[in-house]
Amino acid sequence: MQGFPGSKVDPQDQSVEFDPTAPEHWGEATKLVRGGLTRSQFGETSEALYLNSGFVYPDAETAAARFAGEDDGFVYSRYGNPTVGMFEERLRLLEGAEACFATASGMSAVYGALACQLKAGDHVVASRALFGSCFQIITNILPRFGITYELVDGKDHDAWRAALTENTKCVFLETPSNPTLEVIDLEAVCEIARSAGARIVVDNVFASPVLQKPLTYGADVVVYSGTKHIDGQGRCLGGAVLSSEEFKEKELKPFLRHTGPALSPFNAWVLLKGLETLSLRIRHQSSAALEVASQLETVTGVEGVLYPHLDSHPQAGLCRKQMSHGGSVVTFRIDGGRERAFDIMRRLSIIDISNNLGDSKSLITHPASTTHRNIGEEERARVGIGENMLRLSVGLEETSDLLADLTQAITG
Ligand SMILES: *Cc1c(COP(=O)(O)O)cnc(C)c1O
Repeated sequence: MQGFPGSKVDPQDQSVEFDPTAPEHWGEATKLVRGGLTRSQFGETSEALYLNSGFVYPDAETAAARFAGEDDGFVYSRYGNPTVGMFEERLRLLEGAEACFATASGMSAVYGALACQLKAGDHVVASRALFGSCFQIITNILPRFGITYELVDGKDHDAWRAALTENTKCVFLETPSNPTLEVIDLEAVCEIARSAGARIVVDNVFASPVLQKPLTYGADVVVYSGTKHIDGQGRCLGGAVLSSEEFKEKELKPFLRHTGPALSPFNAWVLLKGLETLSLRIRHQSSAALEVASQLETVTGVEGVLYPHLDSHPQAGLCRKQMSHGGSVVTFRIDGGRERAFDIMRRLSIIDISNNLGDSKSLITHPASTTHRNIGEEERARVGIGENMLRLSVGLEETSDLLADLTQAITG
């Protein structure tokens, strides 16, 4: 499953002839605005919204041919839909993957990407610092079907090596991690997993497809929550799985088609429009987040700041190599405990209290009592989530307003 076309940017490789009219060769901004655009006979400017569940056929022969797979026209929106297809193609081009399948949410993408390839007796190795629901899938849901697991510190390469067994079918990881923003060396871990014969599935939600491209480091499958940065404006849920054509056709598609977590065409349309501004938003949010992170380091009452592109990040070099910008999330620890953290949140006047992230509105959450409540105190201690930790998702407001809001709330 190695060697996606376009996934390794090698200027010496002349085997693919450069064709400026081929969408694969467009620059990122062009892909985001025009990728996948298929206009109807009416010549609409924006992508059309095909809000239909089924399709009609000109004759019974065509229906038979579509069911036989001899005609690739649409059959049913659980299988595919023109608006969903435009979203899949646009995201596929951005990621540089062979194939993309859209899903109803990020979690259906994660579950589908794992469940479609695992069976009883298989083993999964995952990084310990996972998004809450991903942690539940690995440690509670998959084990009910006879799939065993081991969790490792994602930074510890020896731990990855030791955890991989003959039965390890799959490695699952998230980088940067939520909320501690630890970074896993994708190139190194993909190499370790590959040499043990395991496939690598990466949850790339925090970085987004603009800042980090796991396929170029050797990952096999990349999953997204479209709910986060891709929509980025708090409107709808969505998700996607990116992979090789072979994985999609042979493993993913049969599983998702029959189990049914299809993306609504309406949500696909919203996400398509989100992709058009994704790069602009992420770059702006990343530079604002870097400014907020560096300023927070100087505010009295702040014990420490975690942000991938800060010099003080313990893996600053790796962060810069792997991510083109630091992302929209800043995590910080304050002097005090839960009460003090809640006080600060109460005093904020612009920044909203919400567990969502990647939104144009700045949002703050207390992970220990919300997103990471279910993993329990012991597990929280292990991944370094204390009662004094706050996670801030930096939005598109004026950065000076955000800094003033945070400063008055922390020092006031
Ligand atoms: C939000 C999130 C998900 C799940 O996405 P939904 O769209 O909410 O289902 C998975 N992984 C990470 C890292 C997330 O932040």
